[in-house]
Order: sequence, then C-alpha cells, then structure tokens
Amino acid sequence: MDKGTFIVVSAPSGTGKSSICKRFLQAYPEIQFSVSYTTRLPRPGEVNGKDYFFISREEFQKRRKQGDFAESAENYGNLYGTSIRAMKESLAKGTTVLLDIEPRGAKKIKENFRGGAFVFILPPSREELLKRLEGRGHESAEIIRARYDRAESELKEISWYDYVIFNDDLETAVHQLSSIYIAQRCKRSKLQTKIKKFMNK
Ligand code: ADP
Ligand code: 5GP
Repeated sequence: MDKGTFIVVSAPSGTGKSSICKRFLQAYPEIQFSVSYTTRLPRPGEVNGKDYFFISREEFQKRRKQGDFAESAENYGNLYGTSIRAMKESLAKGTTVLLDIEPRGAKKIKENFRGGAFVFILPPSREELLKRLEGRGHESAEIIRARYDRAESELKEISWYDYVIFNDDLETAVHQLSSIYIAQRCKRSKLQTKIKKFMNK
C-alpha cells in the first residue's frame, strides 16, 4: 500500500479551527486525528484520549525527555506535543493524519516529515476573531487578550503554508478543507502502487 499522508492545520486561536476539523472528521471517518498531549485542563465537553491526552507537567517532561514527541511547544503557559509513534504508525498503515497544531510545531513537522499539506485558516477579520474568542465564553478576559495578541505573531508564519482558508462561512470552510484532502489523495506520488498495478495489466 502507498504510504499515508498528513494535513496540518494552524490558525489563530478563536478562528474556528476546531469547529472545522470536527465537521471535517465527521465527514471522513477514515482520517486519523493526531491526538496531542497537553498539560492544560480539559474544557467542558473535551474527552481524554479523543481531543487530547491530558497529562501533568511532570509526565509531559518525562515523555519529552524520552523522545516521545515529534514536536512540542508551550502555548499560553501549557505544554503541547505530537506523539511521534502515533504519527509514524498511522503513516506506515497508509492512513491520512490530521494535525491541529500551531505554526512553530507545524514547522518542525515540515522539517521532519515529507509530503503533507499545510493549511492556514484565517478569520474574516480581526474584529470577528475577537468576537469569536469572547463568544466561547469559558475563558478570562486576560487569556482572551493573550490569545488575540498571539494571533499577530502567528499570522507572520502564513508565508510558508501551502493553502489558506478564510473561515467566514463554516460550511464553505469545511468544503475547502475537504477539497484539499481529496487533492492530496489524488497526488501521483500517493498512487504509485495502484498505477503500477494498472500498468502491469
Ligand atoms: P479555534 O479552534 O480556532 O480556537 P473554535 O472552533 O473554538 O476556534 O471556534 C471559536 C468560536 O467561533 C466558537 O464559538 C465557534 O462556534 C465559532 N465559530 C467557528 N466558526 C465560525 C463561523 N464560520 N462563523 C461564526 N462563528 C464561528
Ligand atoms: P487549545 O488550548 O486552544 O486547544 O490549543 C492552543 C494551541 O495549541 C492551538 O493553536 C493548537 O493548534 C495548538 N496545539 C494543539 N496541539 C498541539 C501540539 O501537539 N503541538 C503544538 N505545537 N501545538 C499544538
């Protein structure tokens, strides 16, 4: 079987990335979501092992020392990391992996894994971004401000991403992400086995 591929999505916090990914994954159950490890507390509705693996700082540092993470970064005082084992296993099985990570981590993945589509999601405007951050309603004004301010530095990273999606209308954004996935699957490099079989009759 041809090896799997991956899609990395990044976006300033509050853009709607989780909303898009959730719908996208519902539409394509064959895609494996890369469940990150984090030291942050679960938000209402988040499930351990599904949204994140919620672990202590000590456990995270131990795992990082062991080399368990393909990349890791600190965001808003919490640590986040991508499991290198899960990523490698999924790719070896020929699965498409979806990673929801911020630009510093995304860059590390770009350096260490070949192929893959890097997608940056933008809100329709800065005003709308602030509205969405406030609309989530489960964070302090201080955290909301920190997330909003962080957006400025993250936006600078857009230059090396392959695709950009404006999340104005949610359905359209999901459709655009789906189109990127379908295009990835049609890449010649991902269809070598099938092509070979066809050529050999
Ligand atoms: P992120 O994962 O990027 O931090 P969320 O998915 O949590 O963002 O979305 C932030 C808020 O914006 C949520 O309240 C969500 O319901 C809302 N939202 C997401 N996409 C849209 C959209 N296209 N239009 C209006 N509101 C949206
Ligand atoms: P949140 O706390 O809102 O779920 O995530 C905060 C930020 O951390 C988001 O930008 C999200 O994409 C990023 N993130 C989630 N998991 C990882 C990870 O494993 N590695 C890195 N570098 N960032 C992550």
